[in-house]
Amino acid sequence: MDTKLHDIYDEVLRRNPGEVEFHQAVREILDSLGPVVAKHPDYADAAVIRRLCEPERQIIFRVPWVDDNGAVQLNRGFRVEFNSALGPFKGGLRFHPSVYLGIIKFLGFEQIFKNSLTGMPIGGGKGGSDFDPKGRSDAEVMRFCQSFMTELYRHIGEYTDVPAGDIGVGGREIGYLFGQYKRITNRYESGVLTGKGLTWGGSQVRTEATGYGTAFFTAEILKSRGDSFDGKRAVISGSGNVATYAIEKVHQFGGRVIACSDSTGYVVDDQGIDFDVLTEVKQARRGRISEYVELRGASAKFVAGGSVWDVPCDIALPCATQNELGEADALTLIKNGCAIVAEGANMPCTPQAIRKFADADVIFAPGKAANAGGVATSALEMQQNASRDSWSFEDTEHRLAHIMRSIHDRCLETADEYGAPGSYVIGANIAGFTRVADAMLAQGII
Ligand code: GLU
Repeated sequence: MDTKLHDIYDEVLRRNPGEVEFHQAVREILDSLGPVVAKHPDYADAAVIRRLCEPERQIIFRVPWVDDNGAVQLNRGFRVEFNSALGPFKGGLRFHPSVYLGIIKFLGFEQIFKNSLTGMPIGGGKGGSDFDPKGRSDAEVMRFCQSFMTELYRHIGEYTDVPAGDIGVGGREIGYLFGQYKRITNRYESGVLTGKGLTWGGSQVRTEATGYGTAFFTAEILKSRGDSFDGKRAVISGSGNVATYAIEKVHQFGGRVIACSDSTGYVVDDQGIDFDVLTEVKQARRGRISEYVELRGASAKFVAGGSVWDVPCDIALPCATQNELGEADALTLIKNGCAIVAEGANMPCTPQAIRKFADADVIFAPGKAANAGGVATSALEMQQNASRDSWSFEDTEHRLAHIMRSIHDRCLETADEYGAPGSYVIGANIAGFTRVADAMLAQGII
């Protein structure tokens, strides 16, 4: 890393002690920016990169709520409003016990570049809580969401900050959050949250968008090499919203997803993971992945614990969570002939794993490009809300496919321009960065 960038990285370490995921996300971007600072001394003069690494605003709040036994429970809520150069802060809310400021900052930081890459008018932010929805009743989840929004509402708005879902926050939670926002503010402000239900301001394809987007992006990679999904075996980690719809779309493209997972283990199904069985288990029942085998029968087997990356495949799509695919997994995938890895989750591959992929010429697409379909469709939802319109599934999906193709092409063009042909990492980081940096320069020292 160039010394100026190294000084910035040191400053980030000093200012944000212990926030290891945030450090990792910053380092990953700074590692790509050498050629940019060489070409644009004006960025350094205006301290653009230093300012980018410091959130515009960070909110931390108490979230008290009462469980079904009448006991008072306490959680911590976060919203990090990272950068609004391109538009209102935009990014999901994550409810998971691992959440702390460092996780939200890493996600918010990534979101700046991802949102920029979509080419749409959205800034970057992220929020969440260490609340664990697992095993909680609907009524408990509702009371938690209401308490969370009772603080959050004063910080958000369609022109200010627009949250959405992430891990642990889906349609049910967005509904409870929206209801409480409406009640407190007495405003039917559709554009304040995205991921809403279809009858009350939501967009077609938003639920499917992240998973579909990852499949679209991977199809573009294949197409750029004169290839297609036809007959390819894919392995996907996770079995939540992103994984489920990535599986559906890969199958529509003619590929076969033969394994997926959850935190208890993974299933292998040589016939291809059955979409209806998977959604019955994970969405209708909110069950464990082992139940897939009970419903599906002979073609499937469950492996408790272990790593889904042990299953040989041509294409790997990590769609679970950060740092889930490490160096050893990368070496196994390479040994088994995997040729493409595209991230459906945020930062699921460790830096060591990514280095192994590069050494072995495995094509690697980072999440900020390959999973941008979710937030891009959120921006489409905002457009529909602003014009009080709603578009058909086909129209919205067509727009999503077009956006993913443009992100793909922009990554490759930028990588070429900056002397790293074929590198989706360099292309995504530099293309994402320059759009934000230019907006920041234009807007003065703020
Ligand atoms: N949580 C998603 C992401 O990581 C979507 C955010 C949004 O729609 O605002 O990009």
